[in-house]
Amino acid sequence: MKVLKFGGSSVGSVESISRLMKILKDIDSLEERPIIVLSAMQGVTNLLSKMAEGAAVGINFASDLTALENLHFNVVKQLIAVRGQNPVYTQLKIYLNELEDLLQGVFTLQELSLQTKDRILSYGERCSVLLVSHVAAQYFPDTMVVDASDLIKTDSSFGNARVKALESGNLIRAFRENNPGKMFFVTGFIGSNAAGKITTLGRGGSDYTAAIFGAALDAEQVEIWTDVDGMLTADPRIVKKAFSLPILSYTEAMELSYFGAKVIYPPTMMPAFLKDIPIIIKNSFNPAFAGTVIQRDSGHSIFPIKGISSIDRVSILNLSGSGMIGKAGFSGKLFTLLAQNSINVILITQSSSEHSITFAVHPEDALQAKRIIESEFELEIAAEKINVPELEENLSVLAIVGEKMKQTPGISGKLFYAMGRNGINVRAIAQGSSEYNISVIISHTDLSKALNAVHDAFFSVLKTTLHVFCLGTGNISSTLFNQIQKQHLFLQENNDIELKMIGMSNSRKMYFDVDGIDLGNWKDTLEGEGEKADLESFISRMKDFNLPNCVLLDNTASEAPVRFYEDVFSSNISLVTCNKLANSGKYERYRSLRECARKHGVDFFYETNVGAGLPIVRTLKDLMTSGDQIISIEAILSGTISYIFNNYHGDKTFYEVVKTAQELGFTEPDPRDDLKGSDFMRKFLILARDSGLILEPEDVQLENILPDNCLNASSVDDFYAELKASEDHFKALKDKAAAENKAIRYIGKLENGKVNISLALVDSNHPFFTLSGSDNIISFTTERYFHRPLVVKGPGAGAEVTAAGVFAELVNVGHNA
Ligand code: ASP
Ligand code: MG
Repeated sequence: MKVLKFGGSSVGSVESISRLMKILKDIDSLEERPIIVLSAMQGVTNLLSKMAEGAAVGINFASDLTALENLHFNVVKQLIAVRGQNPVYTQLKIYLNELEDLLQGVFTLQELSLQTKDRILSYGERCSVLLVSHVAAQYFPDTMVVDASDLIKTDSSFGNARVKALESGNLIRAFRENNPGKMFFVTGFIGSNAAGKITTLGRGGSDYTAAIFGAALDAEQVEIWTDVDGMLTADPRIVKKAFSLPILSYTEAMELSYFGAKVIYPPTMMPAFLKDIPIIIKNSFNPAFAGTVIQRDSGHSIFPIKGISSIDRVSILNLSGSGMIGKAGFSGKLFTLLAQNSINVILITQSSSEHSITFAVHPEDALQAKRIIESEFELEIAAEKINVPELEENLSVLAIVGEKMKQTPGISGKLFYAMGRNGINVRAIAQGSSEYNISVIISHTDLSKALNAVHDAFFSVLKTTLHVFCLGTGNISSTLFNQIQKQHLFLQENNDIELKMIGMSNSRKMYFDVDGIDLGNWKDTLEGEGEKADLESFISRMKDFNLPNCVLLDNTASEAPVRFYEDVFSSNISLVTCNKLANSGKYERYRSLRECARKHGVDFFYETNVGAGLPIVRTLKDLMTSGDQIISIEAILSGTISYIFNNYHGDKTFYEVVKTAQELGFTEPDPRDDLKGSDFMRKFLILARDSGLILEPEDVQLENILPDNCLNASSVDDFYAELKASEDHFKALKDKAAAENKAIRYIGKLENGKVNISLALVDSNHPFFTLSGSDNIISFTTERYFHRPLVVKGPGAGAEVTAAGVFAELVNVGHNA
């Protein structure tokens, strides 16, 4: 036999009740009639509570009463055939009149006891059971209304009564035996005390009613029909990737439902646990969902934890002082005191020095708790043996839950890594010795970020979501956006990474979308819906989103974003950039940026500063971290200059070659920016610094390729004219090279702590002799790569390869998350 409980939303409307009938048709059999436990219609308990409390302070309840009447009458009108309607209207009317009398009493006395309130609330369940059972009677034989207040006996704690399990069990069994073959429709939520006064089992208590009936009658299972897909790994309103859990143990379900997830009322687990009856949470709005099964065994799962729960708001009180050390019974006294005052303690931690105890309470209890402690320990506080309790507010609890944690090391490490990397400060920690639950207290503003980051960390078979903010929408960015869009699925499937572009800005416009900007249409979106760009507010908006696994992408070539880098790191946001300016300015800035990124545990990736997508920075870093020593580095890092000399060997003049290079997009708008070597200098400076040298830009010796007349020309056009006129200068160089069978190369060299970039003629034995197109080449001579250097060679410029390099680094940030 099954017990089925339907919550408020499952009996909340004409549609819901019709759906409920379909569910019953699949279940009912004449051999084993099910037991149906119902909540009040959705919103009714709240409304009754509001009416009662309002009446007690003189607020008129007439219009609410009418609304209540309409709500129920409407169901009768629509779901019960006309000839059957009258008796239901009559009984409803009786209930509503009784309710009105009660409310009128409260109104007149301006006084509402918990006992009266329970009686008022009981009408919610009594009305819904009356309605639904009459609707059902049209389709099923032998339906029967059961008022649970006759069968569930409780103590007299009105509002949250304690059930007398034995006595209730006997009554329920006897009742069932006296009414064989009937389909019961039972009021959830209510019971009665020894004197027969109506009590309630606590808000959400209909679940509990179902379990009590299930346990009393040894049901094969208890089904809780609600409006969500069972229990989830986290609150789906905050964690979009939360998913339904197939199996939980009673303990896990209890731990998860105490905090946050209001899917099932925690006391429900107890009767089921004692009788080993599985509870299955089903969704009346999605019958295809198989359900979350709550049972003794926690089942197999590939994940180390079952779920993450949270309490939105708590306050903590911190009690410290020498007077507590080694004093047996101190905490006993403290917590007894709190219990006597009905203050619920959510979590406790005590340092092993016994010098302090921290505990969390609901915010509405916090001040009272503080005052009680202050007055109870008045003498100790005056004698400075105990400090005045400190109250901290606006905090939240996040807890990871799962029985498997017990056998798996590294769980807390993972939890704290995810928190730390995202800059979430942990104020207090508690792990139950059961090891089913590790709870941390964090600032409320960090809760959503923490839930998402921790969810990503533990359910890593799911995608890690990287939240990306991009500065610059030029060539590199637009190529990158294309690549990301094309690789979207590949990334998710092969790297378990999902990239979401949350914000982008160029110098004119900026645009944000927390759900991710559609990269297939970013141009129109930015142009059409973007607001006026402002770098400072872009950065502060990015920080305000407070998203986990967040990366700033600086694809500009501008100095402006650089001054925000440290601020970005300090906000625990990683940075990926092809902008060389930060690393090639003053050494002090180079140093402090790294220190700042390290301190905050975030990534600072800039592979594309040198040689576009070629693995140069990474290779150097690998050599260094594995303890190799750099002896020298030789490199050609200007794709532009390579191209020019590679094409200046035949009949074309130097002028013509440069012109073509410009036309092919290989040069800066003013080709002198390349030919002067300053771009090369920046790249090489970064390499030199990464190899451990402390160097300023002025320390790099830079040979100028251009004669003075070209260098000093006042415009690009003049420059070209001068270049044309200087052909002899270049031809002499070319002829010399040809005569010696050598190639002209512009080479950077680091040796003995010095960096020098100059023109050189290299012979065919030199590794740089054969270099084609706009290739870059870097050769590292190290202690390990001594006789034959380690050489990296390939295309070192171009949007496609640079964007690919940036892309790879984004993925790496994701892997570090
Ligand atoms: N109707 C009651 C409440 O809203 C009991 C329940 O729905 O479980 O708390
Ligand atoms: Mg409920």
